[in-house]
Amino acid sequence: MINIILFGPPGSGKGTQSEKLIEKYSFKHISTGDLLRSEIAAKTALGIEAKSFMDKGQLVPDEVVIGMISSVLDANPHAKGFLFDGFPRTKAQSEALDKLLANKHTEINIVLALHVNEDELVKRLLNRGLTSGRSDDVNEEIIRARIIEYENKTMPVADYYNQFNKVVTIKGEGTIEEIFSSLCKEIDKKF
Ligand code: AMP
Repeated sequence: MINIILFGPPGSGKGTQSEKLIEKYSFKHISTGDLLRSEIAAKTALGIEAKSFMDKGQLVPDEVVIGMISSVLDANPHAKGFLFDGFPRTKAQSEALDKLLANKHTEINIVLALHVNEDELVKRLLNRGLTSGRSDDVNEEIIRARIIEYENKTMPVADYYNQFNKVVTIKGEGTIEEIFSSLCKEIDKKF
């Protein structure tokens, strides 16, 4: 089993690259952002709680997302591997994920960290907001809040996996194909 974290700030291209990676390698894609948006669309209690944080550009509480991940892992016992996109986003989520995977006798093999400068991130997100239908992409203040949450709470995830030498940084600027090719090269090198 191969388990990969696609890591990076909002707007670094995780969603776009995930789509291409799952097509090529047949991983099970787990995007907590997509899962949360489905809960919001279905107007579940979890979705209603999550929306109040997402609308402000803040992270949803750890226990909410960890519970969701646990259910998805249990529901996919025969997956060839998981591609985590937008998760883990805090050190506590990383530790919880490692425990959940250890219970299934597996682990995170590699963390692919996309690097994009901040001005480019804001530009991409505002541009995405024109078509994505995502309210958190339209307002620059919310976008900046998401980037600050990333710097304060999510960057420590890279430090956490760095202690196990699992992080590989990838330049997240260039064409979609160039970035995809860099990601594939690292995955193929590892396996
Ligand atoms: P994304 O689609 O990954 O950009 O996520 C959109 C929003 O969903 C984020 O700004 C957070 O409010 C929330 N979210 C997604 N994944 C997580 C996570 N792992 N932990 C906490 N909040 C999350």
